[in-house]
Amino acid sequence: MAKHTAGAPGALYIVATPIGNLEDLSPRAQRILASVDLILAEDTRHSARLLRAFDIRTRTLAFHEHNEARLTPRIVERLLNGESMALIADAGTPLISDPGFKLVRATQARDLTVTPAPGPSALVAALSCAGISPGKFLFEGFMPPREQARRRRLSELTGVAQTLVFYEAPHRIKAFMADAASTLGAEREACIARELTKTFETIRRGTLGGLRNWLEQDPEQSRGEFVVIIAGAAPQSADRAELVRLLQVLLASLSLKQAVRIATELSGAGRNEVYDLAVELIGEK
Ligand code: SAM
Repeated sequence: MAKHTAGAPGALYIVATPIGNLEDLSPRAQRILASVDLILAEDTRHSARLLRAFDIRTRTLAFHEHNEARLTPRIVERLLNGESMALIADAGTPLISDPGFKLVRATQARDLTVTPAPGPSALVAALSCAGISPGKFLFEGFMPPREQARRRRLSELTGVAQTLVFYEAPHRIKAFMADAASTLGAEREACIARELTKTFETIRRGTLGGLRNWLEQDPEQSRGEFVVIIAGAAPQSADRAELVRLLQVLLASLSLKQAVRIATELSGAGRNEVYDLAVELIGEK
């Protein structure tokens, strides 16, 4: 495992840690953290609590988005010299909306071993309990903090058929839900997964409009950490979004009649439906 033979290069372990409940730290993760030479931790003070709880005395080094680029070459050098290291985030799986990607690439570029100790991630925990199809999903992570950029990104997602997964901060959750309801439609099904594995864990499914109102009415529900899961566009709206794009391109250079004929042929949709949509689009110009 983490122990290395003399002269051999060390390995980099990507270790998932609890997102709330300390019992979720796997026995393998505990063993790796206790036996590596160094733990790279996003926030060493935060991780000290976890390590203390498991009586792990390994040295730690702060490794975060602001020093990742600078520290990576030195860390790779140390791995080449035989030290083994574990990368941990404040919570959950490193690299998932957390630092570490540059380090993983640089480590692999020197043919060093990068190996995961999988475990908690808010993304997977929320998906597993949301009651919204996890079959295919698009992980968006954090949305842009500014309203205009957030709304623009949400509009781009309108026709996406996969389930959408977002991380959101407590001070933006209400604004995010309001924007999601107005952009994707107040009737779209969604789930708010809050404070997972912690005392105030809340998993609430409803429509975007209903959940937005629920947050407005109960300020307590805007506290803590959030994953928001939103159902993908219904099949016909995904098809419709495709058809709209196709017609927009065709109408830009062809007559209405020609555009409708080609779009009907390519999309397989009914001629009347395509015609009505084309007329609607021309009207919008
Ligand atoms: N790498 C982490 C993971 O694998 O889940 C995510 C790190 S990201 C910087 C932190 C965000 O994850 C929070 O803002 C929140 O959106 C989500 N999150 C983390 N812990 C959570 C929890 N217990 N319940 C709900 N969401 C959580």
